[in-house]
Amino acid sequence: MTECIFCKMVEGEIPAAKVYEDEHVLAFMDIMPTTKGHVLLIPKVHRENIYEFSEDEAAQLFSAAPKIARALKAEFEPAGMNLLNNTGAAASQSVYHFHLHFIPRYDRQTDGFGLHWETK
Ligand code: IMP
Repeated sequence: MTECIFCKMVEGEIPAAKVYEDEHVLAFMDIMPTTKGHVLLIPKVHRENIYEFSEDEAAQLFSAAPKIARALKAEFEPAGMNLLNNTGAAASQSVYHFHLHFIPRYDRQTDGFGLHWETK
């Protein structure tokens, strides 16, 4: 039995706020969003990091990325977006099932939740 929380989401053993799914990948809302609309895209097969991907697996994952980015852009109307992956503890990876972060970015005054900070 897997201990990987993202594998458990794929298997439906724990809930996920799904935003996209096909045969190969799953995308869901991040449980602790950095900004409004923060989404994670994962391969359904367990791959710890990018080093473990076959070319086909990489193509399957990245072919879903524009669909997710466009949906987030349409839904949240961010000013920009970060797509990023953390590989290894030194790079702040905390869940060891590969995931691509989609982090919508808003203007300088807000994170999309209506929270404000100093811009000076
Ligand atoms: P990392 O630091 O790049 O590995 O990012 C792990 C991400 O997974 C973080 O942004 C977490 O908030 C997110 N996360 C951890 N557990 C869950 C969960 O159960 N559901 C959704 N997102 C999660």
